[in-house]
Amino acid sequence: MRIKDNLERIRAKLPSNVKLIAVSKTKPAEMLLEAYEAGQRLFGENYVQDLMSKQPDLPSDMIFHFIGHLQTNKVKYIAPFISCIQSVDSPKILKEINKQAAKNDRVIDCLLEFSIAENDSKFGFNLDEVQELLNSESYQSMQNIRICGVMGMGSFSDDTDRSRREYKKLKSIFDQLKKEYFASDASFKEISMGMSADYLIAIEEGSTMVRVGTDIFGDRNYKE
Ligand SMILES: *Cc1c(COP(=O)(O)O)cnc(C)c1O
Repeated sequence: MRIKDNLERIRAKLPSNVKLIAVSKTKPAEMLLEAYEAGQRLFGENYVQDLMSKQPDLPSDMIFHFIGHLQTNKVKYIAPFISCIQSVDSPKILKEINKQAAKNDRVIDCLLEFSIAENDSKFGFNLDEVQELLNSESYQSMQNIRICGVMGMGSFSDDTDRSRREYKKLKSIFDQLKKEYFASDASFKEISMGMSADYLIAIEEGSTMVRVGTDIFGDRNYKE
């Protein structure tokens, strides 16, 4: 019941153009099923092993987005079924996703992850790196990926002004890329930003996809 209530409470606050990704990393399959039964279809996972152990037994119309840092040698495991990889943070990983998607005769949606956090940004591109990527012949020859937008993680802090600045920055990066590279590409439309602590701020700043874990499934327990 609790998961259903949480989902309903959150959905009531989301504008109709904003998608809710239920971030189920580290949570057991039963909890994902509970969310599914409450109508949730979009899920976000961070760890390949964890996802691989849950996915085979779950309903086939659950849609998974990969949102964690992805190692090149693990792309092959998720390529057969992953709907979107939000955490593309290097040309090398994009190339591998394209290759594995081709092997599976699929096109995999991707978001470009930008490092926007002012206090700690471990992973993600900056704008120059992405412009270089998008101008490269290597990118232009990729037939099995579709870049659908951008993703970013805000700082972990209670400083809402800082979160707002970070989200404004991601929105302006999106606008610039849209104008320069994707003006006539309708599938480049997603801005994935906002988590449990700040998704309403992210929506005010233009988010089209919020990634909410704790507010739906409760605190995570990392002893594994
Ligand atoms: C864990 C995680 C989230 C969800 O965080 P909560 O604070 O639990 O809502 C969102 N995005 C990414 C990339 C994450 O790793």
